[in-house]
Amino acid sequence: SSTVDQTPKRVILAAPRGYCAGVDRAVVTVERALETYGAPVYVRKQIVHNKHVVRTLEERGAIFVDELDSVPTGARVVFSAHGVSPAVHDEAAVRELKTIDATCPLVTKVHREAQRFAAKDVQILLIGHAGHEEVEGTMGQAPERTTLVQRPEDVDALDLDGDASMAWISQTTLSVDETMETVDRLREKYPMLMDPPSDDICYATQNRQQAVKQIAPRCDLVIVVGSVNSSNSVRLVEVALEAGAKASYLVDYNTEIKPEWLDGVSTVGVTSGASVPEELVEGVLEFLLERGYPVAEEERLTEENLTFSLPPELRRDLKASA
Ligand code: SF4
Repeated sequence: SSTVDQTPKRVILAAPRGYCAGVDRAVVTVERALETYGAPVYVRKQIVHNKHVVRTLEERGAIFVDELDSVPTGARVVFSAHGVSPAVHDEAAVRELKTIDATCPLVTKVHREAQRFAAKDVQILLIGHAGHEEVEGTMGQAPERTTLVQRPEDVDALDLDGDASMAWISQTTLSVDETMETVDRLREKYPMLMDPPSDDICYATQNRQQAVKQIAPRCDLVIVVGSVNSSNSVRLVEVALEAGAKASYLVDYNTEIKPEWLDGVSTVGVTSGASVPEELVEGVLEFLLERGYPVAEEERLTEENLTFSLPPELRRDLKASA
């Protein structure tokens, strides 16, 4: 009949997507720690913000805790990829915990920037989301010198001494465009504002946002695989919508895809956050294929070759047990 939609159904996959170097290193750190020391291995906070990853590691003997007081004295604890404040390191020392620090080196880089600015009496404006673990860790580097700015609209309410020296730094997983808007507003208000020595929004966040931007204008729907507490994954939904996708949703698993999302949809874009294992994307692609949406193409923005070596305290023990 003439009412049948003739537009072919298809999937466009964005690349790069999924695991970044910091997440890969953090997950492998917990896996190797379990193999080397045996279960249980305690992990402070979710090692990375992905439900599936956390569940899988729990099954292997990792115990996730919110704070160090839930870790028995003298036990071994891994710090998550999002980083911790110096106060957490101090508490671990007092409790005589054996620590393995899986903080992403690109988060540690931001910590160092905060420390250097603070040492020079520079006031720090940290752009990031309140309550996020990375923000807590970065704030903790110089708590008395750091002011959190969450969004461009927050700049108006800031009441800082315009003559003081000031610098901005940021969380690694923000929207690039929104962050630049915040920086522009800050600079308007505080013209002497200094930039960080290099980009704080990491390569993985930038690449995943750029890659979804490329496909979004052609998509009726963009499915982002990722967890609700994953900052970079949530940003991908926002970026997809801003770039012209008609709809975009975040799912942990293919079982969360609502059939009505596909009503009248011909092109589906698929991507995933930096903490998401590829098997979850494969599950989404299977679901879509079963409903008549084959993968037509993978659109790759760039190759990523970065890897980080495991935390030195773990490498030492790996060598000794080899
Ligand atoms: Fe590191 Fe960026 Fe991955 Fe976060 S998203 S773990 S900062 S590489």
